[in-house]
Order: sequence, then structure tokens, then C-alpha cells
Amino acid sequence: MDETDIDVIDTAVIGAGLAGLLAAITAARTPGAGRVVLFDPHPLGGRARCDERDGFVFNRGPRALYVGGVADQTLTSLGIDLTRGGPPNLAGAGAVDGGTIHVMPQGPGTALRTSLMSAGEKFAFAKAFTRIPRIDPATVVGRTVSEWLDDIGMAGAPRRMMEALIRVATYTNAPDLLDAGAALANAQAGMSPGVRYLDGGWQTLVDALASMAWDAGVERREEPVEGIGRHPDHPRLLALATPGGATARTAVLAVGGPDAAAAVLGDRPPAWSVLGPPVTVACLELGLIQPPARRFILGIDEPTYLSTHAPPARLAPDGQAVVHLMRYQAPGEELSAAQQRSGLDRLAAQAGITPDLVARERFLARMVVSGGLPTAAGGGLAGRPSVEVDGHPGVFVAGDWVGPEGLLFDAVAASAAAAGRQAARRSATMAVA
Ligand SMILES: Cc1cc2nc3c(=O)[nH]c(=O)nc-3n(C[C@H](O)[C@H](O)[C@H](O)COP(=O)(O)OP(=O)(O)OC[C@H]3O[C@@H](n4cnc5c(N)ncnc54)[C@H](O)[C@@H]3O)c2cc1C
Repeated sequence: MDETDIDVIDTAVIGAGLAGLLAAITAARTPGAGRVVLFDPHPLGGRARCDERDGFVFNRGPRALYVGGVADQTLTSLGIDLTRGGPPNLAGAGAVDGGTIHVMPQGPGTALRTSLMSAGEKFAFAKAFTRIPRIDPATVVGRTVSEWLDDIGMAGAPRRMMEALIRVATYTNAPDLLDAGAALANAQAGMSPGVRYLDGGWQTLVDALASMAWDAGVERREEPVEGIGRHPDHPRLLALATPGGATARTAVLAVGGPDAAAAVLGDRPPAWSVLGPPVTVACLELGLIQPPARRFILGIDEPTYLSTHAPPARLAPDGQAVVHLMRYQAPGEELSAAQQRSGLDRLAAQAGITPDLVARERFLARMVVSGGLPTAAGGGLAGRPSVEVDGHPGVFVAGDWVGPEGLLFDAVAASAAAAGRQAARRSATMAVA
């Protein structure tokens, strides 16, 4: 059979989360792209989907967009309006340590007022905190967060506060593994220009990207791709194991993490072994009839977080509120779901949330925030797997565990654009060859 007799997809994008949607749009908009088909048996959006409960929009755990990051730049350049919503309200923010709520140090002023630290510790913290924006993250790549905090002489309460700030900025509770360069870059971005919570939640991003993908001519097939191999008669082409069968010139695997990608590939490229374990969290989502007395609390001796996302974002009926609580899980941590839940219930009570204020709630015991954390031993962000896959010509990967740029959605946006572009260019070259 001649290659021209086969129904060939130019670029198959597997997985329709944020990475797959962005990769498909980029591929379809690349000159000479041809047919781009997006495969996913589930509703669009993956982990960025939202669920509505009685007018409360739950983002499946807290979602904050890093202002000025790769994702913000990418979505803005696509014409998506990210201005509706707002930054977290940190007025009166608390830091809970040993069961007591203290003023959360956010700068020299609050550091002076807090009872979290002794007078000497306040000075050490204020000095380190004001230095952070000026440190070049490249200079600490290859050091773990713990080693870096040792290097700069952080100890006691200031150190625990720094570790808490790094957890918020990276969602990661693994100071002995996480690369300090990756952590510092996100901590700097979190301090300034900061983050935004979006009106309507991240579902608005999914919806906007989906309509752009269809406008660009992307086709959708609601099917899983269970394997990728070479086509038996045309080894230049890829055979996709789908219920309907499919042949493609190139493929972008945007299936959410390295384990899922390895399952489709049928092997795990050795270069992926630099990745650390997945970053996971437990989430408690609360729809409240009014905003809580205290809108933001960070756990210092416990790896916890509480933030009121609505307001500022519109995620609740007028006058009501959505509050997200989270426990950052350490690799190998063995707390039961019930223990984690009761810790988050205690934190909610510390924010003044009494049961009569709760209209809707949802507890998610283990959510995967990122498929694999960038380790110091693995060379930080630069050491993460590249979009090309060794030993699988024509196959590319995208996601929050791929490529040298950013964490979380920023890594998704950067790797999806690179994978989509490279896949489409390669297909275009193959089609004319
Ligand atoms: C609780 C939580 C909080 C977060 N907070 C933030 C935040 O504040 N800021 C930030 O930047 N990021 C945040 N993130 C990270 C961000 O949500 C993710 O990085 C991003 O949504 C991942 O997108 P993805 O497309 O790579 O993967 P996914 O969303 O996991 O999508 C993968 C898709 O692939 C599909 N799929 C899987 N296998 C197959 C197959 N074999 N065939 C076809 N389809 C398949 C799945 O159905 C799914 O739709 C958070 C994540 C979580 C869980």
C-alpha cells in the first residue's frame, strides 16, 4: 500500500488538558501544518477543569496564574483576557505556628510586628527577604532548597517561614530534593509581580483555548491512545493504538505526567530518570455564605495553606465566597486522608469558618500538581526531559514536567508551544519529502 492511500493525520495530539490544547493550537497555526487531531476520551481541560456546585465554582484545588510568566504571556498573545479577577487579599494574613496565629511576615513592616520570631530572628528574616529579589536563580541551581537555606544561614522561625513561602510558590514540600534555582525563580515571581485568581476559574481558559483550537481547524476524537509504535508498512509513520485505529506523521504526548506518557510509549526513556517524584496535595474546597474573618493563613509548622479566592475572583454568588485549603504532601508521607482532612478543618476554624457558614464543600485527598519535580541532583529546570523523546522519532512530550522553563502551568505553556511547533514542522517536512 502506498503511503498516499492511508488516511494520515499530520500531527496527533494526545491529551486535551491545557498542554494538549496549547500544543494543538500551536501545531495547527504552524505554516504547512496539515491535519491536527486531538485525542482524549474525557471532557476537555484535564486538571484545569472546574466544577460548579450551587453557584460555587470549584477549580479542583486552588489555581493562581503567575503574572508575567510564560503561561500569562502565551495566553495574552493568543488574545485571552486575563484581567478579570484579582490578586490574593493578604491584608491581615496570618501565619499559624504551634496552634497560634501570628501576623504573617510579608516584608520588613510585618516582620517587625509579628510574634512568630524573636527580635534577632526578625532582623535575619527581613534581611534575607529583602535580598531574595536580587539573587540570580542561576547561581543556586544544583543546590537543594535545604542546602541553599543552610548556605545563607537561615535557621529557626525565619527558615520555617522561608520554607512555607517556597511551598506556596512551588506547591512543593520537598526541600531536600527540590532545586533551589527553580524554587527561587518562582518565589521571586510570587513576590512580584505576583499571582491572579481568575473570574470563572481556569475553566474559562479551557473554553477559550478549545474554541481557538476548533477555529484553527483542529479535529477532536473522544478516544484514548493506548500505544504508539511504527507503522508496520511505513516505518516513517506512527501507528496509534486507538479504538478506531489511526496513523500519524508526528505525535505530541500531553497526557499529564511521565508515567502516563511512558505507558503510551511502551518504555521510559532513561533521560526522564532525573525527575523527582510527583508533587501532590490534599485540597479542601469550601463555598461559604460570606467571606471568612481571616482571608489568608499560611501553615508554618504544618505544610498548609488557606486562601480566599472569591472574592477577589468571581467564583461564588454575590456576597458569598470560595475558600481553598491545602496540605502540601511530602514525598512518601503516610498521613491518612482523614488525618489530613481534620488538619484542614482545624485550619478553617482558625480562619473563623464555622460549620454554619459552609454551603458546599469538597475534599480531594490527593491531587497531582506536577508530574515530577525538578531536582537539584538532576540539574534543576535545565535537566528536565526535553520535548523530543530519545528513541522515538516524531514523538514529542509536553506538560508540567517537561523542558527548561518554569514550573506548573508556565512549564505546560512553554513545552506545549515547543512540542506543537516542532511536531508540525516535522510533519510538514515529511509531507513534502
Ligand atoms: C490542586 C492543583 C493546584 C494547582 N495550582 C496551580 C497554580 O496555582 N498555578 C499553576 O500554574 N499551576 C497549577 N497547577 C498545575 C496545573 O493545573 C497543571 O500543570 C496543568 O493543568 C496540567 O495540564 P496538562 O495538560 O499537562 O495535564 P492534564 O490536565 O493532566 O491533562 C492530561 C489529559 O490527558 C488525557 N489523557 C491521559 N492519558 C490519555 C491517553 N492515553 N489518551 C488520550 N488522552 C489521555 C487526560 O484525560 C487529560 O485530559 C495545579 C494543579 C493542581 C492539581
